Amino acid sequence: MKQKGTLSNTPLESEEIDEVGDDHVGSAADTPLRPDAFDMSDEDKMVKIEGHFKEIMETLGLDLTDDSLKGTPKRVAKMFVQEVFSGLNPANKPHARLFENKYKYDQMLVEKDITFYSHCEHHFVPIYGKVHVAYFSSGKVIGLSKINRIVQYYAKRPQVQERLTVQIGNELKKALNTEDVGVVVDATHLCVASRGVGDTNSKTGTAYFSGKFEETQTKNEFLNYINAK
Ligand SMILES: [Zn+2]
Repeated sequence: MKQKGTLSNTPLESEEIDEVGDDHVGSAADTPLRPDAFDMSDEDKMVKIEGHFKEIMETLGLDLTDDSLKGTPKRVAKMFVQEVFSGLNPANKPHARLFENKYKYDQMLVEKDITFYSHCEHHFVPIYGKVHVAYFSSGKVIGLSKINRIVQYYAKRPQVQERLTVQIGNELKKALNTEDVGVVVDATHLCVASRGVGDTNSKTGTAYFSGKFEETQTKNEFLNYINAK
């Protein structure tokens, strides 16, 4: 399991900012948001982004009077605010309801192969892959669709894979009321596959192990389950 990058709270000095971004180093476990991030309404954000994106396209020399292109700035603005970056807004956070674990099932619960689509925050191109989650019930369980929704909520942000992994792990601990949580993320980064070094086959693996999952035997049980065909 490769752990790329570091998770610390030290802000990067301006001269340290990597213009190419191929190192994909994240700076913090929390998404760096400004305090005024949601002062503006979604409608106002879309109007603003539409204007800016139109300018980007025009700067690139594209003819915005063309029938195929003229709707693009508005589509991109809508997609950013309402879809692919909707997980920035805490108002969209899924509420996880806990149910009694009636069957007294006390073994590991694994949800494997949760597909996600996210965006690299260094290049704004897709990161996509699978998230595998495991936990031991604290006496309560949540619906499997809720685990999926937690994954999608954190994926719908500009991300680095390490942060996505940690954010899912931390949220599951809260939602499930347990320390015993494991998360593994296998992802393809289009910024690596389609540009930069142009490596089309590499995948990046990140993991978060807490509580019982820090024990080798439990960790291996989870990893063996993931790797089983
Ligand atoms: Zn990138």
